[in-house]
Amino acid sequence: MEGRIQKAREGKWNGGFAPYGYRLEEGKLFIYEEEAVAIRTIFDQYVNTTIGANGLSKYLENHGIRKIPRQNGKNPLFDAGLIRKILKNPVYNGKIAFGRRTLEKVHGTRNEYKQVEQDEYLISEGIHEAIVSDEVWQAAKVKLKSQAKKYEHVNKGKDTRTHLLSGIVKCPICGVGMFGNKCIKKKKDGTKYKDFYYYGCKHRQMIRGHKCTFSKQIREELLDDAVAEVIVKIVSNPKFASMMQEKINMKVDTCEIEKEIDNYQKELRKSHSTKFKLIEEIDNLDADDKHYKRRKQDLDDRLYRMYDKIEDLESLLIDAKAKKQTIEAEKLTGDNIYKVLIYFDKLYKVMNDVERRQLITALISEIQVYEEKQPNGQWLKSITFRLPIVDDDLNISLDNDEHVESVVLMTRK
Ligand SMILES: [Zn+2]
Repeated sequence: MEGRIQKAREGKWNGGFAPYGYRLEEGKLFIYEEEAVAIRTIFDQYVNTTIGANGLSKYLENHGIRKIPRQNGKNPLFDAGLIRKILKNPVYNGKIAFGRRTLEKVHGTRNEYKQVEQDEYLISEGIHEAIVSDEVWQAAKVKLKSQAKKYEHVNKGKDTRTHLLSGIVKCPICGVGMFGNKCIKKKKDGTKYKDFYYYGCKHRQMIRGHKCTFSKQIREELLDDAVAEVIVKIVSNPKFASMMQEKINMKVDTCEIEKEIDNYQKELRKSHSTKFKLIEEIDNLDADDKHYKRRKQDLDDRLYRMYDKIEDLESLLIDAKAKKQTIEAEKLTGDNIYKVLIYFDKLYKVMNDVERRQLITALISEIQVYEEKQPNGQWLKSITFRLPIVDDDLNISLDNDEHVESVVLMTRK
């Protein structure tokens, strides 16, 4: 272990197969042009276009960029997983990392281990040539970071139906997100009833010793329609369109974060120049000086500390840039939603299930339902919006045939 850390500190490749794009000669990494083309394309497209890892995989295939077979690589394709690994590998920026992945024992087994990606790992300047420039590498890191959030909540059920309010509607007893299910019932003679979909609490099965008692099935159609009706009511307010227009024209304030970015960049420039000065001083040391060893040691220590500082600053800078990108992306998403809302009643009708789901998830953070179906046949109790589309908390009544008022509370976070 120590030996490998030492090698990483010295910028040498610490064993194992050469990463794709490089070949190994006498323990050193050299760019392997035939493979490096793919690496450059991956970074270039990722940084300069809006496509993500999945799109990149298709892009490479369409452009005839195939993975060159190797003894350690079985997969002939650049799939999204591999592309993400490539985008995260500091070796392409001329760095040597150690401890990016460690083995951890699988809980409850005697000797099974799994690889775990570490957030913190040792990194040092490699002695090999970088395939991607610092600028491109940093930009890729920023995009990876700002996109990471998007992948957190991708859950696809076994059936292909998109359940509009899955996870958004909360169980009135235990409070967790309720999920869409398909109900298949058979008649006594064995023929099937028409399938229907409902939201149910997923804690009905025993999970970690808890079982929720809410066993009602809420028809998806009924709740979905009620939510759409409420939104139609909000947007049909004559003042609504101009209110949304105002929000679209509003500028986001990235002043603070820009100041932060500036500061880190200044600090980084300073640290780099200190680093160069230290290297120069080390080079100029007089080996005949009787204090040579001690002075060399002293300068080496200061140089290592400077490397650590630069690394810290770089990661702070990346965080700050990612934050700025997220703020801007959120503003864009918000604007798009406001634009859709202005024409909600027309657009919603022509949207497909997936588009509706995207709109609803971006718009609504939470839906509460009653424990019992209300006398007018409704379940909907309240809607909490992510975006300020209502000025203050607001009550809206749902239409119904029996003239029994059902009031839905609108709030925003
Ligand atoms: Zn529950």
